[in-house]
Amino acid sequence: MRYRINRKTGDRISEIGIGSSYMFNAGMEEAVKALRRAVEGGVNYFDLAAGDGTSFPIYGEALSDLRKDLFYQIHFGADYSNVSYGWSLDLDTVKRSVERQLKELRTEYIDYGFIHCLDEHNDWDSYLKNGIFDHLMDLKEQGVVRHIGLSSHTPGLVQRIMDEVDIDMLMFSVNPVYDYGRGTTKASRGTVDERTAVYQRCESEGVGISVMKPFCGGQLLDASLSPFGRELNIYQCLRYVLDKPGVVTVLPGAQSVREVEALLAYYDQPDEVSDYSLLGSFACDDALGKCVYCNHCSPCPMGLDIALINKYYDLALAGDEMARQHYLGLERKASDCVGCGHCDSRCPFKVAQSGRMQKIKEYMGE
Ligand code: SF4
Ligand code: SF4
Repeated sequence: MRYRINRKTGDRISEIGIGSSYMFNAGMEEAVKALRRAVEGGVNYFDLAAGDGTSFPIYGEALSDLRKDLFYQIHFGADYSNVSYGWSLDLDTVKRSVERQLKELRTEYIDYGFIHCLDEHNDWDSYLKNGIFDHLMDLKEQGVVRHIGLSSHTPGLVQRIMDEVDIDMLMFSVNPVYDYGRGTTKASRGTVDERTAVYQRCESEGVGISVMKPFCGGQLLDASLSPFGRELNIYQCLRYVLDKPGVVTVLPGAQSVREVEALLAYYDQPDEVSDYSLLGSFACDDALGKCVYCNHCSPCPMGLDIALINKYYDLALAGDEMARQHYLGLERKASDCVGCGHCDSRCPFKVAQSGRMQKIKEYMGE
């Protein structure tokens, strides 16, 4: 397992976490084994927007003795009063739901208390008006909640809420369908540029992103369901997500020991298995010509880390001074580019990289 630091909180978080949409399907015995296997493999981050309320006693049984070494994100707005998942903006319902979750999880605190799944501006207005955000902050004051999170699919609303309140983690849906789908991206999920601006803002402000829907609800894993008409494997999807600025952890669902082990095997895959360059052949036109930091163009004969240089440049352009400093600290910079064009011919996303290196050199000064 590899770990990333959420700069906002200093938490050291596993790149691969576990989402809880499906775990309850496994039943208590298998689910307990699967969760224990995940922790044994280094997973320390769990999302608890569960698909069903029977998930919480499973976590309590599986992980309560390990609790102090783990991070839980718990959602203020997820309701399980009818056992299956529901969404609520009613303060009393939210309070009852969180109290029940804490009891069944056998924990007294929440690492990341989440403003849950808001996609419309008027939902945020109601969240504030109904006192749910104040309740979350009261619990933070009391030490029950350590940090504040926000989950949303909507870039415009994410920007607004980040302007208005201080958050420590964003849970955001990231996958190639939402980023690059031709005609499949709902307006509420934003354009390529709006989504990129969210990633860049989080990276710049040190707010970690925990990723939901990395496989687009499984659609991407099945050619007959994929909007691209082609399937990706889970390792291509995980690598795609982990290459995005701001991302600290990805939270795929799992419902068996076997599925957990398949996720943990991410680090054992050869480069060609997780390489997602085929996306370049079906990404929407808006996405082409923009570096996605995939490193498919490497190696550069001059030893430049092309993906990293581009990531720092894009962040610096968006106003991230720290990214500029990171760039200036690199051993090999855009000024070392000799314009050989190897990267241009290798880039599946049609980035004219040799020309871009000249622009980077001019902008960064070296
Ligand atoms: S230039 Fe192209 S191949 Fe190279 S990192 Fe960027 S998107 Fe990937
Ligand atoms: S054009 Fe520049 S960055 Fe690209 S491979 Fe050649 S030397 Fe490296």
